[in-house]
Amino acid sequence: MEKKQFQAESKRLLEMMINSIYTQKEIFLRELISNSSDAIDKLYYRALTDEAISFEQDRYAIHIDANKEERTLSLTDTGMGMTKEELEANLGTIAKSGSLAFKKATETKDGHDIIGQFGVGFYSAFMVADKVTVVSKSVDDPQAYKWESDGSDGYTIEPAEKDLPGTEITLHIKENTEDESYDEFLEEFRLRSIVKKYSDFIRYPIKMQVSTHQPKDGEEGETEEVIEEQTINSMVPIWRKNKSELTKEDYEHFYQEKHYGFDKPLDHIHLSVDGAVRYNAILFIPENTPFDFYSKEYEKGLELYANGVLIMEKCADLLPDFFSFVKGMVDSEDLSLNISREMLQHDRQLKLIAKNIQSKIKSQLQSMLKNNRDAYVKFYQSFGRQLKFGVYNEYGAHKKVLEDLLLFHSSTEDGLVSLSEYVTRMKEDQEKIYYAGGESIDRIKKLPQTELVADKGYEILYFTEDVDEFAIKMLQSYQEKEFQSVSSADLKMDEDDTEQSEEEADANKALFEEMKSVLAGKVKDVRLSKRLKTHPVFLAADGEVTIEMEKVLQAMPD
Ligand code: ADP
Ligand code: MG
Repeated sequence: MEKKQFQAESKRLLEMMINSIYTQKEIFLRELISNSSDAIDKLYYRALTDEAISFEQDRYAIHIDANKEERTLSLTDTGMGMTKEELEANLGTIAKSGSLAFKKATETKDGHDIIGQFGVGFYSAFMVADKVTVVSKSVDDPQAYKWESDGSDGYTIEPAEKDLPGTEITLHIKENTEDESYDEFLEEFRLRSIVKKYSDFIRYPIKMQVSTHQPKDGEEGETEEVIEEQTINSMVPIWRKNKSELTKEDYEHFYQEKHYGFDKPLDHIHLSVDGAVRYNAILFIPENTPFDFYSKEYEKGLELYANGVLIMEKCADLLPDFFSFVKGMVDSEDLSLNISREMLQHDRQLKLIAKNIQSKIKSQLQSMLKNNRDAYVKFYQSFGRQLKFGVYNEYGAHKKVLEDLLLFHSSTEDGLVSLSEYVTRMKEDQEKIYYAGGESIDRIKKLPQTELVADKGYEILYFTEDVDEFAIKMLQSYQEKEFQSVSSADLKMDEDDTEQSEEEADANKALFEEMKSVLAGKVKDVRLSKRLKTHPVFLAADGEVTIEMEKVLQAMPD
């Protein structure tokens, strides 16, 4: 028998999880069931392309058995199983998805109370068990193996006996302590309710021995206790259910079960489309920015199911970049199961779905902006930057999708304002949408350039992010009103006659020449202006590129 240590990181993660006594421990069951379901999915998917593997629908199930005397709870599935190497790689180190995300999140928070919110994977078993035994037989190896660990002291691996491929996980449930009872995880009723809560839509039957009272043969009015196996989940995927049957909590549980994020979703969109292309989809707008969202590592995409079977975990083609924050899944009967990635890109059905989804997301965000401003502002603080990048990068029609979703700070309002709100507030004689850029709202407020515009009673949008002005430049106008920087040299307001009369120019010639030579290489020209109110001087930009944009451009690597 080999004894091995967990990797240092896994060990830390384990300790953190085991010691966090405030969280909902019940989620371990959700994690183990979803792993089993994934393992059956993988087998099903494999069977489609590999003739050596058959998939007999009836054989696929997840069994839960509680044994109070032995204090064990076991989960058995008929999925792919794991080879020895897979047992080591998957259970001996931090698994990539859920657990890694957990680790990153807890680096900033203290770990307590946030565990229940997202996927912590297989390790969560150690919240309720002081020993976990996994016996697994892979479809790729006739030899089964047993993996065992007490959670703190590494694990052992040795050959084992097992008839059919699949995995059996046995949890040795902890003894009760003074302040914690673990007995509930051996109670049939409690286990059933946990399964119902988190795993009801799992596609494969989750079976359990259930005791019921039935009429006793031949004896009127008498009942006897009968123990029989029952399927306890409804097996109808949530996306096939009727919206009216579902609660906000159902969607939140689904979001967590799927590990879409650590947060609770701000909003969801449930679609059942029965038109040129048929599909069901559940899409989520998260509340928080994922830690890697604005980095190259972030991968956008939706889960793609073909008639209930997961065929791709992150189908990027379903989401435009500017909506890359959307999480969720799409299930369509019109897609073929063994379609390849390359084929998918050209799939007409998929393109239709993508287009459709895009417009649904847009209208959902618009209605959020209109009817639930607080939620929208939260959303915008997390993902507004991505929308602005979208305006900057995308072409024609896409810009139109986005312009109504933008918000900016403004000189006259406390909160963020939309462009359409700005336009409705425009003064009668006002032709343009004015903006001023700077590092912060406070600094913009002090800009001399804003004075003249503000004096006329015009509202000014404050651009504090580097992308703001670039995005606006690409839009050029909104509702036929052009955007105008207050710092531009040709502001063209009545009083603003930057054209100097010859007389004035002559009078100041010597002074301006002197200033120009002192500032040589820093400014192109020094001119007289009537735009200033209480400040002696300001910097203006000639042409298209403003001072703020120049700063950004200069900071960019060549
Ligand atoms: P995640 O599911 O997010 O990858 P987990 O910690 O839940 O992380 O699981 C780690 C890995 O262990 C899984 O990705 C899978 O490869 C493997 N695994 C876990 N449970 C099973 C199972 N019942 N059958 C087959 N493989 C499993
Ligand atoms: Mg998992």
